[in-house]
Amino acid sequence: MKRYRLREQMNGVAEPPGKVWFWELEAGVIGAGRCIQCGTCVAVCPSNSIGIDEGTNLPELVKMCTGCSLCWDFCPRGGLRYEALWPPSTQARDEDAEIHPAQSRADSSDTYFSVSGGPPADGFGAVVESYAVRASAEIGDVQDGGAVSALLVGLLAAGEIDGALVSKPSTDPDERWKGIATIATTADEVRAASGSFYNQTMALAELDLAPYGLPPKPRIAVVGTPCEVQGLRAMQARRWPTGAHRVEAVVLTIALMCTKNFDYRALTLRELRDKRGVDLDRVSKMDVIRGRLIVEYRDGELAVDEPVKDFHGAALKGCDECADFLGRSADISVGSVGSMSGWTSVLVRTERGRLAFQAARSRLDVRGLDDPAALLRLDALDKKIAERNLQRKLDPDAPLFIDFEEHVRAYSGSDRQPVVIRR
Ligand SMILES: Cc1cc2nc3c(=O)[nH]c(=O)nc-3n(C[C@H](O)[C@H](O)[C@H](O)COP(=O)(O)OP(=O)(O)OC[C@H]3O[C@@H](n4cnc5c(N)ncnc54)[C@H](O)[C@@H]3O)c2cc1C
Ligand code: SF4
Ligand code: SF4
Repeated sequence: MKRYRLREQMNGVAEPPGKVWFWELEAGVIGAGRCIQCGTCVAVCPSNSIGIDEGTNLPELVKMCTGCSLCWDFCPRGGLRYEALWPPSTQARDEDAEIHPAQSRADSSDTYFSVSGGPPADGFGAVVESYAVRASAEIGDVQDGGAVSALLVGLLAAGEIDGALVSKPSTDPDERWKGIATIATTADEVRAASGSFYNQTMALAELDLAPYGLPPKPRIAVVGTPCEVQGLRAMQARRWPTGAHRVEAVVLTIALMCTKNFDYRALTLRELRDKRGVDLDRVSKMDVIRGRLIVEYRDGELAVDEPVKDFHGAALKGCDECADFLGRSADISVGSVGSMSGWTSVLVRTERGRLAFQAARSRLDVRGLDDPAALLRLDALDKKIAERNLQRKLDPDAPLFIDFEEHVRAYSGSDRQPVVIRR
């Protein structure tokens, strides 16, 4: 059953004014093509009324909506428009510093800070330590240095967490190279979920932990894109009677730095398999790096090496509005940019992140970041695009900003090369 209408249409009882319903989220975000498939609305719904449409991987109503408004309030593309809280220009410019003095809200007890990780003019946001990191021992088919997988394996071994929300490859032969959200509870499960999947997984919906046989008060690490971490942080900052989803169980958040993500069918099936003839069974690695999408086969052959702008039609449109490349609200942010190939750039942002990093330290090779400025360049570009898109919402005649060559320039100066790690 997919549609439930207003109570007054069912039984004539009038609705109190001011309610916000799921179908308003449906109209403003999902139907408008702006959903970034984070799963926050599923996790936040106290009556478990929101599920996931298997065909589209988008939220859908599965039970009656009570009009509590929470799905709208916490949706990063709905009520949780953190960009709207930021000053229109996020970079302090000398010429208008007097007219628009930089806003500073650096109090970590502030909900705004908890959700956004601090004001955007802060450069990296809150950072207590930063490193280039790689797993000190072979760990699997990792994306960069394997820092994330090694960290999770170390935290499981040290008894610091009971599981980690990660993305594993689908075993469906019709869904090759599709990431599926799962809770990994063993080192083998963490290893099997290593590497990057260029699709959103509705990750936070997986926080219904009932199927996983975890202890009564489980401690979970969440690995996700910055928007997923935003949704989670917002839910943790403002408590409400929860449904099935155990938001309070999350003790650590790791954000994968991200400028855009894709629709699985549009990118992997339509663009790669159907249009370019990519044999998905032979693929060892996909990467978006230096403004290019690179797909490699296990035998080392390059299957695809094209500007990522060629795949813009397969990207999630909601990503154009996102200005949080660096994952400011996470305990730890990780990315490929800023360090040599075979290493992961790691920004440790909170005390909780620092303690987690220390607990797994013996499994990590650690040195300084190679090119921290490269992270700031890409972050500035990401914000510029989001800002331009926000301006277009206010003035539809404003020019559309999609200068993809700037992506390439944003990476220039980094000596990072694509790295082939075989599956
Ligand atoms: C969609 C996407 C876009 C990215 N864009 C950039 C970028 O523009 N610049 C940059 O520097 N870095 C980017 N990254 C991060 C980068 O690809 C690596 O994930 C990061 O450097 C960590 O590498 P690692 O070897 O330490 O991770 P690994 O040890 O390989 O572990 C990666 C972890 O991420 C989880 N994961 C993979 N895909 C997803 C997903 N879609 N959603 C949630 N969790 C997932 C895996 O399950 C695993 O636990 C992106 C990642 C993703 C998924
Ligand atoms: S963006 Fe996230 S919270 Fe908003 S509708 Fe999509 S899945 Fe739900
Ligand atoms: S670009 Fe932003 S909105 Fe899109 S998946 Fe990445 S973090 Fe989420």
